Amino acid sequence: MIKSTPPISAVLLDWYDRERRSLPWRAEPGEQAHPYQVWLSEIMLQQTTVATVKAYFVKFLKLWPTVEALANAPQEQVLKEWAGLGYYARARNLHKCAGVVARDFGGQFPKCEDGLRALPGVGDYTAAAIAAIAFGAPAVVVDGNIERVTSRLFRIGDMLPKAKKPIKAATATITPTKRPGDFAQAMMDLGAGICTPRNPKCPLCPLSTHCKAAAAGDMERYPVKKPKTMKPTRRAISFWFTYNDHILLERRVDKGLLGGMPGLFSTPWVARADFPNAEEWLMAAPHPGEWQLGEAIAKHTFTHFHLETRLAVAAAPARLNVKNGFWAPLNEIGDVGLPTAFAKIVRLAD
Ligand code: SF4
Repeated sequence: MIKSTPPISAVLLDWYDRERRSLPWRAEPGEQAHPYQVWLSEIMLQQTTVATVKAYFVKFLKLWPTVEALANAPQEQVLKEWAGLGYYARARNLHKCAGVVARDFGGQFPKCEDGLRALPGVGDYTAAAIAAIAFGAPAVVVDGNIERVTSRLFRIGDMLPKAKKPIKAATATITPTKRPGDFAQAMMDLGAGICTPRNPKCPLCPLSTHCKAAAAGDMERYPVKKPKTMKPTRRAISFWFTYNDHILLERRVDKGLLGGMPGLFSTPWVARADFPNAEEWLMAAPHPGEWQLGEAIAKHTFTHFHLETRLAVAAAPARLNVKNGFWAPLNEIGDVGLPTAFAKIVRLAD
């Protein structure tokens, strides 16, 4: 009798049952995943690594164990606790979404992809992941890891982002109707630990006999990406304005980059060959004063640009009222929830 090859999903789920990563938001085998925890982890994992997210997830769950508790928290506190995770629009949408679920859905997340996709901050990927992992819906989940695994398994040669469509279609052909959530998580684990961007460990891979790229020996070619473009460098001056052991900070407007977060008043972040000259930056200072410009430069890289900042320092004549400004005790500056870019700039004042 000819022995048939088990399908990819069966091989992979078998591997997952033995090798799965233990992560704080994952249910134990046989247990039902908690929708609030799945949603919270998926929002945090958008554009942030598992290693970084773990501690934040545990902290958020301790502070706000339910979606109702998170909905009732002040937005400012949520943003403060999010500080350091980056992509702050996620935190604002997280809070908004908690409000919608708590208020309009009686604290229960919708179970289908369409319902989930209608929530603030939940896109195609996140809706599919929550539907599959929290509710066992046969949704097709494709994140960056899965994109890599599938494109190699099927040797999909289109360039991203055009390749997204065939990759999703190919992933659909191997997604099982039973345990779709575990299957998605197994693909993620495979991509994170075995099918890595460089030097994939094909001899250890449970899918090696199914993999077209491994057979052809050109695994690292997939997924096919556009050559990287150079990021521009934006240069700015930030203002360190102190009075009586307090520092003047800015609450940034709610929209846009680092929206709603605290920071230092700064000149506009503009791509330019050199720093603003004295005339330019003095005009942007929060108040006239004896400003002294430091030589040291703080560097931070965002998704689309590098930022270089120098610090101008002055003592304020009084605790002035400045639009969008607030005074924070200098010895508590580490606790106000500064985003990493500003935390680096603040170190220039040491
Ligand atoms: Fe990735 Fe290699 Fe496994 Fe193919 S055999 S899925 S390239 S690790």
